[in-house]
Amino acid sequence: MNNSVQKQLQLVAATANPHKLQEISVILGSAVKLLARPNDLGEIIEDGPTLEANARLKATAVCEHTGWPAVADDTGLEVAALGGAPGVHSARYGGSQGDDAANCRLLLANLQGVTDRSARFRTIAVVAFSDGVVVQAEGVVCGSITELPKGDKGFGYDSLFAPDGADGRTFAEMSAQEKNLLSHRGKAFRTLAYELSLY
Ligand code: IMP
Repeated sequence: MNNSVQKQLQLVAATANPHKLQEISVILGSAVKLLARPNDLGEIIEDGPTLEANARLKATAVCEHTGWPAVADDTGLEVAALGGAPGVHSARYGGSQGDDAANCRLLLANLQGVTDRSARFRTIAVVAFSDGVVVQAEGVVCGSITELPKGDKGFGYDSLFAPDGADGRTFAEMSAQEKNLLSHRGKAFRTLAYELSLY
């Protein structure tokens, strides 16, 4: 008989994006109790040079503010024909932070007439603990950028990104469950959960 008691890990989420919060909460499942980002936490300036730096910066800032372990992710869309852009600048590619429509418009404009539309999403997921320990994991999904937006689910660049092996369907045409199974965020957070279970 297994007498071990599985403890639930409590993590404060750094993201204010309800789509990301929902995905992370489903992927991590019941082993983690995810607390919402505190309202009194000011804006965290994501000015790191890499996804890794920004994810660590966010998790550490929330952990220092709350005293609780905190979880953050940073995601970039890396397009081969654009030399890896928008990459770490994905959230403000179109000019202003978090303007999904402007980001998608500029991406399509910059790929007009381009035949190599291969791209990948990359997520770095991080948990920061108050004793300074930081646990980090990466998730990558390869695919391509469609000629036109397709689908009405999801957020961000979902309507333009068709992951490999999904018959050309974009993330915005998939159920949340199917996206999580294939996605950069799903892979990163499943690896993170595995790494956390080793501590
Ligand atoms: P961040 O990690 O929240 O800074 O996201 C960077 C940019 O990528 C933002 O424009 C997001 O909307 C976009 N993004 C992040 N995750 C996803 C995703 O799963 N699908 C589509 N776009 C995403």
